[in-house]
Amino acid sequence: MSRSASARANRRGEPPPSPEPLPAPAVDSHTHLDIVLGERPADGEHGEWASEDAVDAEIAAAEAAGIPRLVQVGVDVASSRWSAELAARHPNVLAAVALHPNEAGDGRATDDALAEIDRLAALPRVRAVGETGLDRYRTGPEGWDAQEAAFRAHIRIAKEHGIALVIHDRDAHEEILRVLDDEGAPEHTVFHCFSGDAAFAKACVERGHVLSFAGTLTFGNAGYLREAAALTPVDQLLVETDAPFLTPVPFRGRPNASRLVPHTVRGLVEVTGTDLEELCDQLTRTAERVFGPWGSGTRA
Ligand SMILES: [Zn+2]
Ligand SMILES: [Zn+2]
Repeated sequence: MSRSASARANRRGEPPPSPEPLPAPAVDSHTHLDIVLGERPADGEHGEWASEDAVDAEIAAAEAAGIPRLVQVGVDVASSRWSAELAARHPNVLAAVALHPNEAGDGRATDDALAEIDRLAALPRVRAVGETGLDRYRTGPEGWDAQEAAFRAHIRIAKEHGIALVIHDRDAHEEILRVLDDEGAPEHTVFHCFSGDAAFAKACVERGHVLSFAGTLTFGNAGYLREAAALTPVDQLLVETDAPFLTPVPFRGRPNASRLVPHTVRGLVEVTGTDLEELCDQLTRTAERVFGPWGSGTRA
């Protein structure tokens, strides 16, 4: 997500307490620490980035809850640069860089902006291009052509650099697969905040894609997501917060943070029947297969 207005709408109430720590380390495959921590400046706008101390405290709180590995996701040029810089200085963080589909639909995926994403994608701790994709909920039909062109450009950048692709799919399941099949998906393609049903999950799984589940998995009305997760091979599953959005039950509606991932991991345990510690280990293995090792300055 990208709009500060919706960030505010998702930050009602006190931050929830941290859950009981996980028995083994797991991951947050998709977070926006810049949005969690403040009114960060969007491209061409004024604002203030969170202080290094505030960012480090947030990352330390996640580690204390059993989440020592985070993927920090950019949504425009400014936040993509910030994400790359954070990953370069903090061992717990890898970065993903992109122009969000709603930015692209607004015409902001210019040649210059895409060239900057391409430059950032070459950095050693930038391990994914994303979030990119299609959003037919917030962007109207007048923006769809620009959105698809930007999505195709992002797919090419990911393949050129041999890094993962992180997909934002809002009300566009079939269209996303059409574009991916047409361009040829990168080896590691992740559907962030997976939002499809069992049939769509099957179509993604058959193609070898990875499904990352957010707090929505725990929502009472999300039986279709639990069905989707249940049929996904455990080595094609990831978990994420998409913080500050989509806070898991029992704190739905309050501000989200990486340290709350354990709620979603425990939700996945119920759905998959996997032992909790084993699931944590598997999630870490999958994350390192997709994004490369956190502990290293190189991708190999
Ligand atoms: Zn996001
Ligand atoms: Zn998204």
